[in-house]
Amino acid sequence: SVVTRFAPSPTGFLHVGGARTALYSWLYAKSQGGKFVLRIEDTDVERSTEQAKQAILDGMQWLGLEHDLGPYYQTERFDTYNQYIDQLIEKGLAYRCYMSSDELNAIREEQEKNGEKPRYPGTWRDRTDYPEDAPFAIRFKNPKEGSVVFKDHVRGEITISNAELDDLVIRRSDGTPTYNFCVVIDDWEMGITHVVRGEDHINNTPRQINILKALGAPVPEYAHVSMILGDDGKKLSKRHGAVSVMQYRDDGFLPQAVLNYLVRLGWSHGDQEVFSVDEMIQHFSLDHISKSASAFNTEKLIWLNQHYIKTLPASEVAEHAIWHFAQQGIDVSNGPAVADVIKVQADRVDTLKQLAEISGYFFEDFAEFDANAAKKHLRPVAKEALIEVKKALESISDWTAENIQNAINQTAEALGVGMGKVGMPLRVAVTGSGNSPSLDVTLALLKQSTVAQRIIKAIE
Ligand code: GLU
Repeated sequence: SVVTRFAPSPTGFLHVGGARTALYSWLYAKSQGGKFVLRIEDTDVERSTEQAKQAILDGMQWLGLEHDLGPYYQTERFDTYNQYIDQLIEKGLAYRCYMSSDELNAIREEQEKNGEKPRYPGTWRDRTDYPEDAPFAIRFKNPKEGSVVFKDHVRGEITISNAELDDLVIRRSDGTPTYNFCVVIDDWEMGITHVVRGEDHINNTPRQINILKALGAPVPEYAHVSMILGDDGKKLSKRHGAVSVMQYRDDGFLPQAVLNYLVRLGWSHGDQEVFSVDEMIQHFSLDHISKSASAFNTEKLIWLNQHYIKTLPASEVAEHAIWHFAQQGIDVSNGPAVADVIKVQADRVDTLKQLAEISGYFFEDFAEFDANAAKKHLRPVAKEALIEVKKALESISDWTAENIQNAINQTAEALGVGMGKVGMPLRVAVTGSGNSPSLDVTLALLKQSTVAQRIIKAIE
């Protein structure tokens, strides 16, 4: 059965490119009733950090891309890799290389001067006259003849002549196995049937296939996913806005929106744009991944975010929104249900961060009035309207939106003024600004006593 993996190197946060690769890999496993492996490729000890490992786990969890197996850490598996390397040496499929890096650099310089591709010339491939007490690396004996052919789900059939591949170092002179070798062993031992990864790894694939074959291991299927570019056609980077998945959380995006955005960034199912996760699983196929690079489009992501804020069950949106209220120091434990606030505010925001920014008055007294709104609607003209509407609101015995609306209407009628002359001062008094959802529902979400207190404060 199908087993896929996501194998990030923990050298930074989980970026959108990695997240998309992870999503495709995860979706394929789910669509086939298979399993999804998370493997942390931390062999580059200098560049791998604990923080980055955690950031990747956090990003995956936030997106809901749960792994069925793992997380595995390559640094915990060095003994395993070295056992396989020893096997290859015993079988004559790998060999000691005593060439120093100075020697190798000199050879490479010479090759470059002659316009050749720099490559290890196989100097120690058949030698056995080992110097004593000298450091050596282990190289894989890449086949000299023939070629490697594999069918890539995105790019079609790819053929690379073995003549183009040199003998790869698989164990450094300090005894540590190298990256490509670890990947091969892991993909094999973890039973990976489909490798979905970035196209920047496509040059590694023929080398990895040769090693798999030398070990007698099955060769998985491959799908190399294209790059993501910024909207200016350049490689996606910080200049284009957020590139870390968790930055999108911080900026107020829902994971559903980010997943929907990412799935469409390089994959299509007809012209459908909006996909629930279940629909993604139902329709996903490796063969519909796009071969061309995809351009990041922040506006579309915002559009999707707004769509999900409006259409997901408010209780589900609330689970994410609560974090944003907390970020802004707003205690939501003493107010209306966050889900009810979302229901009245959903149309007014693009992000959950904005939602928390404009909804504080539901949960606590605001520090000051919006200056323009106060100047226009509150002072000095509105005192009478506020006094009267306060009385009307206080006399309500059943605090419902309908009764609140009636109280406002009746006050305006009694004063012989338009609705706005009562409504706007009331809005500013209660919410601090001239901008809020319809007053009846807004006030209904607040306590009757809170509304009265805020009116008093506005009159003072
Ligand atoms: N560790 C590699 C990376 O983060 C991925 C390797 C792979 O998927 O085979 O780019």
